[in-house]
Amino acid sequence: MSSFDRREFLRLGAACGAFFSQAAAAQAVPAPPVSRVPVKNRKDLVGIQVRGFSWVDEGIEAVLDNIQEKGGVNTVWAYTFSYGEQRLEKNGSIPLPDHGKPGNTIAGGAFYDYDRRYFQNTILKDFRCNVYGDFNVIEAVASKAKARGMSFFAWDLNNAGPTLNDTIPNYAEVSEVDVYGRRTNRPCFNHPDYRAFLSGKVESLLLGYPSEIDGIAWGSERMGPFDNMIGGVTTPSCFCGFCQAKAQSLGISVARAQAGYRELEQLFQAAARNQRPNDGYFIAFWRLLLRYPEILSWESLWTDSFQEVQAHLYGMAKAIAPAKPFGFHLMQSMTFSPFYRAEEDYTKRRNFADFLKLATYNTAGGARMAKYLERLSATVFRDATPPEFLEFYYKIMGYNEAPYDQLASTGLSADYVARQTRQALEGVAGEVQIYPGIDINVPTLLKGDAAVKETTPATVRASLEAAFGAGADGVILAREYAEMQLANLSAAGDTLREIFAQKKS
Ligand SMILES: [Zn+2]
Repeated sequence: MSSFDRREFLRLGAACGAFFSQAAAAQAVPAPPVSRVPVKNRKDLVGIQVRGFSWVDEGIEAVLDNIQEKGGVNTVWAYTFSYGEQRLEKNGSIPLPDHGKPGNTIAGGAFYDYDRRYFQNTILKDFRCNVYGDFNVIEAVASKAKARGMSFFAWDLNNAGPTLNDTIPNYAEVSEVDVYGRRTNRPCFNHPDYRAFLSGKVESLLLGYPSEIDGIAWGSERMGPFDNMIGGVTTPSCFCGFCQAKAQSLGISVARAQAGYRELEQLFQAAARNQRPNDGYFIAFWRLLLRYPEILSWESLWTDSFQEVQAHLYGMAKAIAPAKPFGFHLMQSMTFSPFYRAEEDYTKRRNFADFLKLATYNTAGGARMAKYLERLSATVFRDATPPEFLEFYYKIMGYNEAPYDQLASTGLSADYVARQTRQALEGVAGEVQIYPGIDINVPTLLKGDAAVKETTPATVRASLEAAFGAGADGVILAREYAEMQLANLSAAGDTLREIFAQKKS
């Protein structure tokens, strides 16, 4: 449906000058010659995600000391917006490591002050998070990071957050509508007010803090209705008026898509009750797709809209600050789900990203992959158990990992990091920097008696060597500084210094 061309963005950028607005974007402008401003990507970027509460609880200089001296970090990814971050507790589902303060307060919204003029076109105007008082992460941290030679990136993470409907006025109004007509807590990428809100944030960061912000990392861990059903997360959405109108303009029948998704939900519910259809689950599933191709059309509609928004944000960022890197986080489903992977195509991403962070968390990845395989076995592959289809799954995904019963305790290998890095590099063909995420105490959220592989200095070292060995342009230490044991962070710094010294010699 959409095609995104990097040159178009640059033409638009040149035409719009310093200030870019949706109104300006809509005007037909004569295309000036393309003059591409080189993006100032840092060589061998080492980033780390830092939660708002880490700065508040541990002190800015203390955090910067740890990440720079221990972790070898040269680029701070500071959350400027969070969908709902929570302090950690000693015995919580994500345990407090050997630094930080315990607590369970949840903070969602913006951690910086913004000019409301960037939000004239949206009903979402009041989203400043005040859980940390008037703490402004950009004003407080950027200059201190830069004084140490580090870059400061705004990390704008837009996952669906259950608390935002309550804390941001009108947020519920932009949320997706499921196949039964109920509102959800996931904002709709086709809602013009949500789009204007996302655009306004990028404008407010780049225009409001031109000397503080060196780049923007944008993320949203969201999937279309079909992927969500396999994931077991939600009822299918979105069927709001805007999505329906867009579907109609593309010739997709709304009624048939709704009917198809209701039947698909019934099939998966029957699977949960062990009510095997006469021809088996997979054949029943495929028959449903044949009868309702609108199921896949609606999935594509969702994904195309999601990517369209990201392409728009990228184009706008390039118009305002062409040399500042603007890139995206890709969630770990990219490496687990053959369905999600088919929808997220690196060759398309070339046109609207300066960098991509891959969630290649290998130590936690074993338990996480096992959980995904369970979901496959509960839905489209219900005819078989995960151990029965694992070899076939590995063939599809290009993996050579542990047997199913050892996945959680073994984790995924460093080879998984290397393979994903190489695939991404080949997919973007040198147009986009590739930063694999390096697993340092990434949680699995697996409870109970399952033995789960833990991060050690050795696993951190192996992941980093695999990433750079595969040709990565940089890495992001992940997920959060707040979750990392300091010995593991130090292992990252030690390994990175060795890798970079070897590169020089
Ligand atoms: Zn919608």
